[in-house]
Amino acid sequence: KPTIGVLALQGDVREHFDALTVCGANPVTVRREAELATVDGLVLPGGESTTISKLLEVFGLLEPLRARLKDGMPAYGSCAGMILLASEVLDTRPDMQALHGIDMTVRRNAFGRQVDSFETDLEFAGLDEPLRAVFIRAPWVEHAGPGAQVLARVPAGPAAGRIVAIREGNVLATSFHPEVTGDLRVHRMFVDLVREQVASRP
Ligand code: GLN
Repeated sequence: KPTIGVLALQGDVREHFDALTVCGANPVTVRREAELATVDGLVLPGGESTTISKLLEVFGLLEPLRARLKDGMPAYGSCAGMILLASEVLDTRPDMQALHGIDMTVRRNAFGRQVDSFETDLEFAGLDEPLRAVFIRAPWVEHAGPGAQVLARVPAGPAAGRIVAIREGNVLATSFHPEVTGDLRVHRMFVDLVREQVASRP
């Protein structure tokens, strides 16, 4: 079983932990550098990105996490986690620390001016059936770098076409929260990605 960490500084840690268990991983909570060092991959949960960013600094995890991402560690961020994995964040505090997991510009609380929270079914690259997506004060990807692969866009409405799921290398991010729907296909995709990465290690 791959050991997958859930960054447990703030946010919906429990939901991701349970989803990973169901998907056949061995989840562990990560709050310190020594714990980060033991994991094959890391989930960054939903929550409040500015708070998690601050706590990453307080817990001395910011540089170790950047280093592991640079080294190719698989990571998956949902909502606030997506914001943290960006290379640039719009509409946030000036002291917000980007992790540069994916070359992308993310706008925080992007749907806020239209509607705070909503659900929709969307087409997700690599999944046969549409995925139910729950958005809660969600970000969107305003700009994706050339190396990033867009996995899903908002299908309709005022935000139609906005990127809400993306992958670059071993790093995956969604604007929405698959951990709250009971449909674990995104988590399964991530666990498979971690398994492949572990198997390919020299
Ligand atoms: N609005 C939150 C933030 O900016 C994200 C919300 C969420 O994770 N559901 O971090």
